[in-house]
Amino acid sequence: MSAAPLDEKLEPIFQEVLRRNPGELEFHQAVREVLECLGPVMVKHPEFVEHKVIERICEPERQIIFRVPWQDDKGEVQINRGFRVEFNSALGPYKGGLRFHPSVYLGIIKFLGFEQIFKNSLTGLPIGGGKGGSDFDPKGKSDGEIMRFCQSFMTELYRHLGEYTDVPAGDIGVGGRELGFMFGQYKRITNRYESGVLTGKGLTWGGSLVRTEATGYGASFFVAEMLRARGDSFDGKTCVVSGSGNVAIYTIEKIHEMGGKVVACSDSNGVIYAEHGIDLALVQRIKEVERGRIGSYAERDRKARYIPGGNIWDIPCHVAMPSATQNEINGRDARTLVKNGCIAVGEGANMPTTPDGIRVFLDAKIAYGPGKAANAGGVATSALEMQQNASRDSWSFEYTEKRLHEIMRNIHDLCYQTAEEYGTPGNYVNGANIAGFIKVASAMVALGLI
Ligand code: GLU
Repeated sequence: MSAAPLDEKLEPIFQEVLRRNPGELEFHQAVREVLECLGPVMVKHPEFVEHKVIERICEPERQIIFRVPWQDDKGEVQINRGFRVEFNSALGPYKGGLRFHPSVYLGIIKFLGFEQIFKNSLTGLPIGGGKGGSDFDPKGKSDGEIMRFCQSFMTELYRHLGEYTDVPAGDIGVGGRELGFMFGQYKRITNRYESGVLTGKGLTWGGSLVRTEATGYGASFFVAEMLRARGDSFDGKTCVVSGSGNVAIYTIEKIHEMGGKVVACSDSNGVIYAEHGIDLALVQRIKEVERGRIGSYAERDRKARYIPGGNIWDIPCHVAMPSATQNEINGRDARTLVKNGCIAVGEGANMPTTPDGIRVFLDAKIAYGPGKAANAGGVATSALEMQQNASRDSWSFEYTEKRLHEIMRNIHDLCYQTAEEYGTPGNYVNGANIAGFIKVASAMVALGLI
């Protein structure tokens, strides 16, 4: 990785992050990306230097690691590791999802928790940053196994949660089913129906309309705003959406509604290419009802092609929406996208583009919306769910979607204006990192040395 040099005040801080967090590559990557943007902020805001805000922001307030024992369907004992990193609570209770995936280790949860601080700040809502999860692999597990795992996970985690303390939600591998099992266990242990302790809940037990759709809808709204700022729109655009989980599904839906055509999606085994446009109802049946693999799509849509092990970024498109996982677009992929005429990238996933890839997009001056801005719609709608829970109210779909749309427009405008103010017009990476940071940093100074 040939990184851009850091400001001389920031380099020693980054070296210290490397020293204290050995081997946590994704965390290093996320920290470096933010620090690369902050040089000019230190000049304008010497109080942040004086109060060592950056040193403090890079160190989580609390990190919890625990054993999760559970029994599989054969009666065999299994052991996984659980995490919750409570990163920063200057703006509100820790807020961020839980990820269940075999790749999870402390470095992944810390990168996600770190990003979450700035993302949540950008929403303008009162939420701090945190993240959690486990190296548990939900793939191929029965409902009973999932339930027993979730109950065991919550048996430890519950003592750290609370509507004013820490409020988890879903992420990769954690959706309505898992949150239901976790909420049930929380309620049983505490004897409290505390709706505000988890978000992404089901609609019959305290959830909010639009929360399921929110990350995908929000990312599409964000890209629509970037296109609008350039006098353009989704109308008639060919789009590629990686992944086929919750974020990808609702990104496809909203893009189709806004006049674009999504021609490809994927999972970790391969790519579906449907030049005539992806049939969303079919993807939903495979992923949400059958919990199957995307390869089976081509058996039921004969005009589509399945490319096992294929690279989705080789497919020409105007708009790319990486919505699968971290580091899924490298420098080569980014060059291919630009060469093939891609004009906009909106990150539905967290940190899906490597530093080399980001540089390619910025140099090509395409509209590049980084995850912490573009995918903030999910957590923003979680905060709207918290508002509804606190007032024991529930809002209509239309009203909640309108609120989400406004929030995404505001995030876009804040990033856009901040990029201009700092002399890098059109650079949403600078805009998002600087605007997200300044709000948290100011609150940290105001709250004293804590
Ligand atoms: N996991 C989602 C994210 O990456 C949502 C978090 C939440 O709703 O708390 O932002």
